[in-house]
Amino acid sequence: MAAILENFLSQEVATLREKGLFRNLRILEGCQLPKAIFDGKVVVNLSSNNYLGLNTHPKLITAAIRATQELGVGSGAVRTIAGTMQIHMELEETIARFKHVEASVVFQSGFTANAGTVSAILSKGDLIISDELNHASIIDGCRLSRAEIRVFPHKDLNRLEEILRETANFAGRKLVISDGVFSMDGDIAPLPQIVELAERYGAIMMVDDAHASGVLGKHGRGTVDHFSLHGRVDIQVGTLSKALGSLGGYVCGRRNLIDFLYHRARPFLFSTSHPPAVAASCLAAFAVLQEEPIWTERLWENTRFFKSGLQRLGFDTGVSETPITPIIVGKGDLAMRFSDELFAEGVFAQGIGYPTVPEARSRVRTIVTATHSREQLQFALDVLERVGRRLGII
Ligand code: PMP
Repeated sequence: MAAILENFLSQEVATLREKGLFRNLRILEGCQLPKAIFDGKVVVNLSSNNYLGLNTHPKLITAAIRATQELGVGSGAVRTIAGTMQIHMELEETIARFKHVEASVVFQSGFTANAGTVSAILSKGDLIISDELNHASIIDGCRLSRAEIRVFPHKDLNRLEEILRETANFAGRKLVISDGVFSMDGDIAPLPQIVELAERYGAIMMVDDAHASGVLGKHGRGTVDHFSLHGRVDIQVGTLSKALGSLGGYVCGRRNLIDFLYHRARPFLFSTSHPPAVAASCLAAFAVLQEEPIWTERLWENTRFFKSGLQRLGFDTGVSETPITPIIVGKGDLAMRFSDELFAEGVFAQGIGYPTVPEARSRVRTIVTATHSREQLQFALDVLERVGRRLGII
């Protein structure tokens, strides 16, 4: 290895170790289930985004196997050359119908959907107004666009309006962008008010519904449906990788938007499309969302049970309104120790500290799913209580 690279890497890794930030990847044996084996230990899993348990749903598995047998394992090209298969088009049409919009385009991931779309729609001379807690893929898309970026404090509508007022005469295109559900705190964006501001000041409105897809709205249609804002959000992003159980991201809205992204979104143009098994499992997932509402109902029942249990124990669960519930403990090293001791006693809840969240708001993050049993959730609450008391968190 070049000495200059070797020096750089060994210094960086040593710094991570000194700061206690070096983490080994936890290795999952078998399926991503509510009770799973990580690093050889059976734990109640409160760390996956598999909200509805669809990743092991028999209909998705059957669809993936059949598509592989009939269509092969890979698509062999990018969408704009030879890699658009009938099943890709069928998925995009299904998503558009499901979301009550004209059209949709599927990307390889939610990350590339956000980054590819923001950087295609905006360019130098344009303006992006973004919530400070928006996902990294939005931040990267903003940077790639070379537009001017103004960040407003989390959900601060007054500050958002101030920025819109200050930039009322801005010559270029303006985009207001927010996550629908925020991934570290589990709170929901005040979308009706944000949309109204965007409309009043002539800005394009975009929402990233990664954690709302399959979770909020009728049959899991997302925050636009949850708040009855159909037709008022120009660009909706969703993920196929979390509640939908498979992999991918999509953008939906007007036909023109999708035609434009077909020509200008760089991950769509320059990276190979999904294997047929992925597209087929996503198609099956949308059918399950509509035919089996039981999964969304169970997700919310479990969410209410677990969240109220945490609050009764005296944990600080912040402002969460969704299946993502943080337990805020303060310092980063305490959050990591809390997470490690929970794991040792059979509960996997990821510790999260700076720079992902402010140091003083370090936390372990819990995510319940539809397929957790009451016994598993009660076991987790008992362990959280025991370890929380031992460490002086409650
Ligand atoms: N947006 C948000 C808010 C997310 O939490 C994530 C996933 N961490 C993404 C986008 C990216 O989605 P994907 O995992 O499908 O790339």
